[in-house]
Amino acid sequence: MKRIGAHVSASGGVENSPLNAQAIGAKAFALFTKNQRQWHAAPLTEQSIQAFKKNCQETGYKTEHILPHDSYLINLGHPETEGLNKSRDSFLDEMQRCEQLGLTLLNFHPGSGLGVLTEDETMDRIAESINMALDKTRTVTAVIENTSGQGSHVGYKFEHLAYIIDKVKDKSRIGVCLDTCHTFTAGYDLRSREACDNTFKEFDNIVGFKYLRGVHFNDSKPELGSRVDRHAPIGKGVLGIEAFRYIVNDDHFEEVPLILETPESDLWADEIKMLYGLIVNK
Ligand SMILES: [Zn+2]
Ligand SMILES: [Zn+2]
Repeated sequence: MKRIGAHVSASGGVENSPLNAQAIGAKAFALFTKNQRQWHAAPLTEQSIQAFKKNCQETGYKTEHILPHDSYLINLGHPETEGLNKSRDSFLDEMQRCEQLGLTLLNFHPGSGLGVLTEDETMDRIAESINMALDKTRTVTAVIENTSGQGSHVGYKFEHLAYIIDKVKDKSRIGVCLDTCHTFTAGYDLRSREACDNTFKEFDNIVGFKYLRGVHFNDSKPELGSRVDRHAPIGKGVLGIEAFRYIVNDDHFEEVPLILETPESDLWADEIKMLYGLIVNK
């Protein structure tokens, strides 16, 4: 089946996130396991960990349908030693938090050379950072999200994702997440059936659907190829509805978490219902 959900709140404790997801009719969800705008967080308590596991079990969410997102501060391609080490430590902490919660995926933005490193240098550094984190953990898959290519962020071309995957030693624990807004603003059209066919065929040829572990469902405020990252509610941006109709009806996306990150959380329950309504021959 299709697993449509949203990036729900974990405020008051990670254990609240599966309940928040259930309340909006989600069949998958994303969360932050710590405050996404701060470097440091208190460790998860045993009580919180047990409550999270119990709530996931009772609401029926399986680990492959839960896509935690790491902190926005982390930059695994940071050009300076201090920033890089801080990011690597924090990324490892995020991975370990996932392991404690019994989660098997961690979604992250690849990183930026901040105008100092070339794209290849940045990506080499990112791959090295991933290898270091995978070496120190056992069960979590690192899920690279494609980007819109804002500033000097890498990951806006499918070739970038393939380049990084190629340098990751343990291929069984590396995956990708495609964000519809990022894909579109990076220059891949998704506005018609034919455009989706072409874009996803290109993705399959360059990266491969076997690495797909998640999709972020966002309409886009900026235009095709603008390299700007601004999400819009579904159907309220310039991307339109066809990309979503295509994905919810395509077998490549079966059982893949399809996560709304749209700006108006009040709309999520309706967006989920509307998206399920697009499925033909259920
Ligand atoms: Zn995203
Ligand atoms: Zn975004």
